Amino acid sequence: MSLDSGYPSGKDGTIEASFMADSAQKTNQEIKAAPPAKPAVPSTGHGVTPMMAQYSEIRTANPDCLLFYRMGDFYELFFEDAIAASQALGIALTKRGKHEGHDIPMCGVPVHAADHYLQRLIRLGFRVAVCEQMEDPAEAKKRGAKAVVRRDVVRLVTPGTLTEESLLDAQKNNFLTSLFRLPGGEGYAFASVDISTGEFLIAEVAFADLSSELARLQPREVVVSDRLDADADIKNAVEQSGAVLTPLPQRSFDSKAGERSLKTFYGVASIEGFGAFSRGELCAVAGVLRYVELTQIGQKPVLRPPLKVGPQSSLVIDAATQTNLELVRTIRGEKRGCLLHAIDRTVTGAGARELASRLASPLVDPKAIGARLDAVRFLLEFPSLRQELRDDLKRAPDIARALSRLCLNRGGPRDLGAIREGLGVARTCGDRLGQGAGVMGLPNALAEISEQLQSVDAKLRTELQEALVDDFPALARDGNYVRQGYRDDLDKNRMLRDESREILSALQAAYSERTGIGSLKIRHNNVLGYFVEVTATHGKTLLAPPHSDFFIHRQTLASAVRFTTAELSETEIKITTAADCALAIEQEVFRDLVQSVIEREKGIAISASALAALDCYAGLAVLAEEQSYTAPIVDDSVTFRVEAGRHPVVEQVLAEASDTTFIENDCFLGPGAGDDGRSEGENGKRIWIVTGPNMAGKSTFLRQNALIIILAQMGSFVPARAAHIGTVDRLFCRVGASDDLARGRSTFMVEMVETAGILNQASDRSFVILDEIGRGTATYDGLSIAWATVEYLHEINCCRALFATHYHELTALAQKLAHTANATIEVKEWQDEIVFLHKVIAGAADRSYGIQVAKLAGLPDAVTNRAGEVLRLLEAKGDSTGASDLLDDLPLFAASRPKGHAPDRQERSEVEQALTDLNPDELTPRDALEALYKLKNLCNEPSGSDSP
Ligand code: ATP
Repeated sequence: MSLDSGYPSGKDGTIEASFMADSAQKTNQEIKAAPPAKPAVPSTGHGVTPMMAQYSEIRTANPDCLLFYRMGDFYELFFEDAIAASQALGIALTKRGKHEGHDIPMCGVPVHAADHYLQRLIRLGFRVAVCEQMEDPAEAKKRGAKAVVRRDVVRLVTPGTLTEESLLDAQKNNFLTSLFRLPGGEGYAFASVDISTGEFLIAEVAFADLSSELARLQPREVVVSDRLDADADIKNAVEQSGAVLTPLPQRSFDSKAGERSLKTFYGVASIEGFGAFSRGELCAVAGVLRYVELTQIGQKPVLRPPLKVGPQSSLVIDAATQTNLELVRTIRGEKRGCLLHAIDRTVTGAGARELASRLASPLVDPKAIGARLDAVRFLLEFPSLRQELRDDLKRAPDIARALSRLCLNRGGPRDLGAIREGLGVARTCGDRLGQGAGVMGLPNALAEISEQLQSVDAKLRTELQEALVDDFPALARDGNYVRQGYRDDLDKNRMLRDESREILSALQAAYSERTGIGSLKIRHNNVLGYFVEVTATHGKTLLAPPHSDFFIHRQTLASAVRFTTAELSETEIKITTAADCALAIEQEVFRDLVQSVIEREKGIAISASALAALDCYAGLAVLAEEQSYTAPIVDDSVTFRVEAGRHPVVEQVLAEASDTTFIENDCFLGPGAGDDGRSEGENGKRIWIVTGPNMAGKSTFLRQNALIIILAQMGSFVPARAAHIGTVDRLFCRVGASDDLARGRSTFMVEMVETAGILNQASDRSFVILDEIGRGTATYDGLSIAWATVEYLHEINCCRALFATHYHELTALAQKLAHTANATIEVKEWQDEIVFLHKVIAGAADRSYGIQVAKLAGLPDAVTNRAGEVLRLLEAKGDSTGASDLLDDLPLFAASRPKGHAPDRQERSEVEQALTDLNPDELTPRDALEALYKLKNLCNEPSGSDSP
């Protein structure tokens, strides 16, 4: 295999996929991404302290990260790392020693609060190398007074490789994606892993689908070959998806290495069992596993076997459509107001992630969709079982993420507790479903979940139950998480430790009595250990006989004197030994339990996914009940028939905000759609041209039908009285006029690029929504493009489409194109005002009522009246290009002022002014009569402005 083939060569720098093999120093140099600040690395050499020499060496090996260098209870940062981190985190910048005659800048974060600081640094785009002390400082001391504690980088923290709860969004996956461009521009191979949950997805997509795939996955970090690092398409697509781009050497993307990595990772002799992967996919796999190896340094994450997700298996929704339909966030970037937020009734983080993943990849296989719908239907029909299951699920911790931390050696006792609770819930839910099966007969999807949950490892659960306390202490590092009675030796040491504490307080009381010093205290510090402390005055008493024989002097301070006694030293040894022993035993128990968990990792991961799926189904059933959704019929026809459909988000927003009812609307497209005569004359129409006034609800109508498709194909009930959806392979939604100035595209250019994408890709199974396409240019240009687009969709793409427009001329196409029909939205006119009925009916609108809507929006009357005059004239002339002719016909702007418009002071006539100045309440009857005569006289005089 040569490089010319487009695939990296196996000979040239083939990588051994050796998890846990390489040292941090060697491997991390492969990552070339530039962090926001380029930290300087101090030179080593003469005059540099041994610790700084060690720091330097590790720093050089990790060139593009901030180095968190462990010193006792702190992670310290030095040199430019310190400057960058102190600025980014707003923490104090101090100094430590000198380097080449200059102070060394330093800042630090406490180890126990490191997660919080890491989270902020990662958000700001930094990568962090965490360097730990690899031995006890006492061990180092044995090598000599100046020996430095051995340190090494144990992990690179990057956006795509997070596992800590505090760094992750519980409801979202955290994908790390490796992207490989297939030779010959055929497309891209993707390999994506979420090491916090174990998901591993592989896909190959067409060249044009790069953005859709990234928008679907929403990875946090994308690794690519350094040869593609500067590729504008990739850069733009990754940037738009919000991910960080990390280049790796081209040799990391080697198909043979990919195959080997998979074999090594899963301990299998052949990868055939996982499915058939293309060479491109294996190259992407090599990249992603290599990066995991580089960042996890010796720790192997739990990854489920790779799942191949072909474009044929899910509905393709490109990036622009995802944005326009506001699937997982609104156009403004908020969660509230998007589809996911409106339909999420799950009660666990894992369930929410499952729902989000189903929404991002709706299915296309009617059978698989039907299986999901059956599960929702069952849980809808049995509300008490559903409620019990949801009550159980509420107690379920995030097992997948706890498992991932334990396997990566980053977990704590609480994670073990989470597995115990989670397995308990899994078993309970499994049993409940099992009982349900006996009585009601479970649909296949739930039967499978029930089976998976019932086969939960009872032995492990019992082991965890017996070993761990019910309520975990706040700080697990102090121990006390192993249950009393689990290990005799632990209980004995704990007793000794606790009794010794009692002995200490007894000693203090005894010494007080013996010396007659009531304020005598027994205290502890790290230097002296336990000691007796008295005030300076009482110190003299203890230093003199008879007490001086018993109390041994240790330290004199300004205000206190400290002593010890033989008895106190003995007690101290007992206490520390017992406490240390107890802690060591607890840690041993912890390690054993983690080992047990790792050994059963596969089964636990299955339970975790089963619980997530159950939560997802139950949540969708709750949604269906609460919002009165119905089960769609989904098959492989190309029919689209929605009776009394609603917009799932607008409906909820209207109900919450104003208690307004959403007006239901039908939409029948494709063959057979009008069979029952409900939509006479529209039988077989694939394209609807929707015209109607501004604000009538055209966009809402278009989008609700797209959202109904997504909901149906992800396996949810839909907001409609009835729905029959012939599966859609690709969904497109374009809205005219949105610019992308950052990418150098004008409003109209964006519109046209996106329209081109649709016309080039839509098949007869696709569904296209075009909302006011063509409005970004001159009227006739826009109209012509819109016209030609409809014809192309009709003749060439042959897809189902909804086309909303204010170009009423387009409605003429319905007469010409056999599969095109007109629909409009009803409004009522009342005293020059319009009332929106939001009802979609057959037919075409003749006007857009734009001026009335402008009035509603609060445009000054002068402007709307003037606009009305212009419109009337334009309509009378029937040719908007001859606007200059209008200049003669239109009255001056001032003359178009509305009758009721109050003129300002300068414009008032004398009569008006005199009237304005009158105050009837202050007039006597005689004054009133005089004022009346004056007004009459003014009227008889010719007006100043009108006088010649
Ligand atoms: P324009 O042509 O100005 O873009 P439009 O016809 O696309 O307007 P929409 O934006 O879809 O109008 O709808 C305007 C508002 O009308 C929505 O924000 C919503 O509040 C309300 N609305 C739309 N459809 C309905 C409906 N079916 N029932 C109730 N209210 C609706």
